Amino acid sequence: MKRQFRTSQNFRAALLGFCAMCLGAAAQARDIVIHAGNLLDGQSQAPRHQVSILVHDDRITAVRDGFLSPAGSEIIDLSGETVMPGFIDCHIHISATLPSRSNALEYWLTHNDIDRAFDGARFARAMLQQGFTSARDVGGGDDTVSLKNAIAEGKVAGPRLWVSLEPLGPTAGHGDMRSGLDARLDHPDWSNGIADTVDMARLKVREHKRRGADLIKIMPSGGIASTGDDPNQQLMTDAEMQTAIETAHALGMKVAAHIYPAGAIEAAVRAGVDSVEHGSFGTAQTFALMKAHGTYLVPTLTVFDIFYATARDHPELLQPGTAAKELANDLLPARNFPVALRSGVKIAFGSDIGEGDHSAEFRLMISAGMTPLEALFAATRNAADLIGAASDVGSIQPGRYADIVATKGDPLSSPAQFGKIDFVMKGGEIYRANGLPTPQP
Ligand SMILES: [Zn+2]
Repeated sequence: MKRQFRTSQNFRAALLGFCAMCLGAAAQARDIVIHAGNLLDGQSQAPRHQVSILVHDDRITAVRDGFLSPAGSEIIDLSGETVMPGFIDCHIHISATLPSRSNALEYWLTHNDIDRAFDGARFARAMLQQGFTSARDVGGGDDTVSLKNAIAEGKVAGPRLWVSLEPLGPTAGHGDMRSGLDARLDHPDWSNGIADTVDMARLKVREHKRRGADLIKIMPSGGIASTGDDPNQQLMTDAEMQTAIETAHALGMKVAAHIYPAGAIEAAVRAGVDSVEHGSFGTAQTFALMKAHGTYLVPTLTVFDIFYATARDHPELLQPGTAAKELANDLLPARNFPVALRSGVKIAFGSDIGEGDHSAEFRLMISAGMTPLEALFAATRNAADLIGAASDVGSIQPGRYADIVATKGDPLSSPAQFGKIDFVMKGGEIYRANGLPTPQP
């Protein structure tokens, strides 16, 4: 069967056609050819023009010059668009509601992990519609493991997920949910990430592996959005960090570390951590050390932007006593970002949100000094490399999953286009066409 898809006309017919394609996909092999007007493949510095991307089932088989129409292939006409690899967000909390929308403490105490999984399903669907076909969740629970599995099994539409479980950290640290509550209040799940000794750090890593974690998140320093801890202090010992990282690596898992102070970042980097999340108080020396060790920085400018505005306009929504910490610290990452850029440290895209506009990170990184192409690399090849999935995602080349997005115009000259994705394919299935969602679970 040969059928033309035009982005500008006859949407209803195209949509019906896609439904038929989706229903038929499981039963028979499919060959699709995408005609890309401009291609940013996630690897090359220069765009290519008028190329055909050949897809068989869920993988890309070839990228060829010119618009090819081999017999028996479906043709998708994106000749008026810029085509890119599906975006990857390396720091999400898929079931997190926007802090500006609900009271953090009230929400946490009135919802269980099943409630959060339903929220996560909603936010995952929205992320996919924004063009994010992969994501790394760094700090969920059993709900995020279940959501990852449901997406992988096609029960829920969403990005491919790699998940950590509860972040590992000490009693009274950034991950201790009990801080600020009546000291007798507790919940069985609130201790899942608590590690106060080297032995506990080793045990928690192994437990998280058993419960379905793909990676480990540690919180060696205090945080900002939590009650009672200080973001300037290192709270895990060097030995606890080393043990967590060694144990995770021995099990084939990477380690992401939420850290702020320069000294703590440098200790984690020496211990072999794979990525520094936030890294707000890093110095030129810190970033140089990270570069030397090949450690990624995931700056998460989006979450600081959102929390700063919430602390300023609606402090009553935040965790008790944290608005002053937000106002004192949230403007620093964007100011510090140029120092990281100049150092040449590897940077991967991460928004640190669940609900909301994940493409905001493009806007913030670019306005803080990154070029649009560097921002695209942060969200594609760099992100895939950090996750450890570069042979599957993050670029448009033979062998990779057919995770492909498109927008009108040229995002390199009009970066706002990163936030206006009108075509989304994940694993050869179309989730958005003509700017509108196609029916999915
Ligand atoms: Zn986070």
